Amino acid sequence: MPVKIFKSKIAYAEEIAESVHKLNIPLNEGETIEFQAGQFVNLLVAPGVRRSYSVASPPSYNTGIDLIADSVIGGPGSQFFANSKVGDEVEFLGPLGNFVYKEEEKPAYIFATGTGAVPFISMVTYALETLNTTRQIKLFLGFRHERNVFYKDHFERLASNFSNFEFILSLSQPEGDWQGYRGRITEHYLKAVETEKNFAGYVCGSRKMIDDVVLNLTNAGVVKENIYYEQYY
Ligand SMILES: Cc1cc2nc3c(=O)[nH]c(=O)nc-3n(C[C@H](O)[C@H](O)[C@H](O)COP(=O)(O)OP(=O)(O)OC[C@H]3O[C@@H](n4cnc5c(N)ncnc54)[C@H](O)[C@@H]3O)c2cc1C
Repeated sequence: MPVKIFKSKIAYAEEIAESVHKLNIPLNEGETIEFQAGQFVNLLVAPGVRRSYSVASPPSYNTGIDLIADSVIGGPGSQFFANSKVGDEVEFLGPLGNFVYKEEEKPAYIFATGTGAVPFISMVTYALETLNTTRQIKLFLGFRHERNVFYKDHFERLASNFSNFEFILSLSQPEGDWQGYRGRITEHYLKAVETEKNFAGYVCGSRKMIDDVVLNLTNAGVVKENIYYEQYY
């Protein structure tokens, strides 16, 4: 898949959860981007400054690409997402990266917190809707508060449409009358791993989060080579 520079105008820009911003960047007429679910693009966020962002939308959506980023860090990438408006010009380079969905027979267990969920929006949607995979897919997704949560409805819709997909959403510091899972995702996935160790593990997030998940899984008997990961920072 050739890496190209794309220049376009933002078609959608909304804050979809507290300090979490979604952009849709359509392609110009006649342009196509062929990417694999899980890949990222390199976005020009300020003159001479680039940051990487996973493509949230699956390859089958022919509406350009969706990107989702949080703006808490406050650096140039955060500011770009927080301040972008419909009609703003953007430039990105892509597709990039090897952290992609691989169809296999064994189950896929996915571990993410916060914006680490972004590549899995693309991967899970692609696996279920496009590949019609019959493998078991479990997504363990953690946020701190309810106000940080994004794409809950999307994953819940997939879980109700596809019986082989299970969505375990857990809040570490829920407020109000949160009815779902509580605590860090660790306790939930360690329970699942007691009975199933032969799966392909996908992890995305900070170095620390990845190290924790890999250590917990390998201590529980999962083979390290079966765990794929993407490090954001
Ligand atoms: C392959 C890849 C894909 C990525 N995809 C996404 C994505 O889809 N969505 C997304 O929100 N981000 C994503 N990132 C992270 C993104 O590229 C930026 O690092 C992030 O937006 C912060 O950029 P900034 O310019 O605001 O901060 P910077 O000025 O670049 O960062 C300042 C400091 O904060 C640290 N830092 C960066 N991010 C975080 C964080 N989340 N929490 C704590 N400390 C942090 C950095 O290590 C740095 O020391 C991805 C990174 C990579 C490498």
